Amino acid sequence: MPPLFALVDCDNFYVSCERVFDPGLEGKAVIVLSNNDGCVVSRSNEAKALGIGMGVPEFKIRDLIRRHRVQVFSSNYAFYSDMSRRVMQTLAGFSPAMEVYSIDEAFLDLAGFERWDLAAYGRRIRQRVREWTGLPVTVGIARSKTLAKVAARLAKRSKRAAGILDLSASPWLDRALAAVAVEDVWGVGRRYAGFLAARGITNALQLKHADEGLIRRRMGVVGLRLLRELQGISCYPVVTSRPPRKSLGVSRTFRQEITRAADLREALASYTAAAAERLRAEKLVAGVLTVYLLTNRFRENYRCDNITLRLPVASSHTPELIGCALQGFSRIFRPGRGYKKVGVQLGEIAPESPVQASFFDPVDRPKARRLMQAVDRINRRMGPATLVYGAQGLGGEQPWKTTFKHRSRATATGLEPLPEAFDFPKTATVSLVSNLAVS
Ligand SMILES: [Mg+2]
Repeated sequence: MPPLFALVDCDNFYVSCERVFDPGLEGKAVIVLSNNDGCVVSRSNEAKALGIGMGVPEFKIRDLIRRHRVQVFSSNYAFYSDMSRRVMQTLAGFSPAMEVYSIDEAFLDLAGFERWDLAAYGRRIRQRVREWTGLPVTVGIARSKTLAKVAARLAKRSKRAAGILDLSASPWLDRALAAVAVEDVWGVGRRYAGFLAARGITNALQLKHADEGLIRRRMGVVGLRLLRELQGISCYPVVTSRPPRKSLGVSRTFRQEITRAADLREALASYTAAAAERLRAEKLVAGVLTVYLLTNRFRENYRCDNITLRLPVASSHTPELIGCALQGFSRIFRPGRGYKKVGVQLGEIAPESPVQASFFDPVDRPKARRLMQAVDRINRRMGPATLVYGAQGLGGEQPWKTTFKHRSRATATGLEPLPEAFDFPKTATVSLVSNLAVS
């Protein structure tokens, strides 16, 4: 069976998520900003039409925002990843094998599907995702993943395509390739675009017919595969399972420098709790933990201090990991320094079940696991950080917290939209875990 792929890509993903919960945003210029409301990370078509570029700092377009009444949102990643999961669940029904390629993109394996009308199948995918999640997607169909990317890209630009382009047996394939700039081809990027342009290769069609010897010399075997993919010979199959994780890190850059140890400890504890939660969600444990502290790199005496500690037993237990992180912190923190970034990195990651029990292990593992499961369940249902650890601090002025001035209240699972009705305490602290702390 010759390979056949569909790339399904959400349109203006973050903006579209916001629109699902506020249909009044339809037809308006809308943008979503990165952490700390820094740069533009998603734009509606109307915002693109105003000339707002991807990655532009917010302060540079303040005038434009005011003049055109652009709707501005802070990013809400918990909400977006939840919407992403819904999209992927919907797509999974359309193919025996699917690869989740990014938060808003997936490849579907359609080998053998050519006996059906592929364009009609693509339209059904779009319609179903729209009905089940409220999100618009574009579908590109072709004989290789690289060509499916090209198809989706062109479909987004063309009104007539109406969100679906099938290039799998199209007489227009070469004309389509000629319309795609070489730096926009999947895997080329800026790194090779200069070299290719210098040899007169500026679009995907020219790259398809490029000299193989030249490409092999300069881009290696990856470059050669790229040519094959453009020629419709698939080199990259759909990869259904993610490769196992090697490490997992959580860190943030602060708005301003932080000097107080107490603030930094709260930040570090929170990032460690987040990392531990992700670890448990993937049923993994970590053997080592690295803490790092960075001063402002735009100042003199820039420093990046780090320390790696080994856990007594590979673990995903939050209090234990926080204890270990704070221990590391106290060994590298220096009073008087202004820190701009704090992070934690978990390493030697392994599946959770065959953890070796140590006779001297001070933690009751089964009990600890049940407790963590309960905490995770509550945070999943009631919204992240409903239950926090004492070390994370209890709100109030927390200078390390990322700011989200314009964050919408949209959430797909939590009870966030109903606080007036229920008046839940927003945050509770887990104190019962302290007797499980690391020795
Ligand atoms: Mg997209």
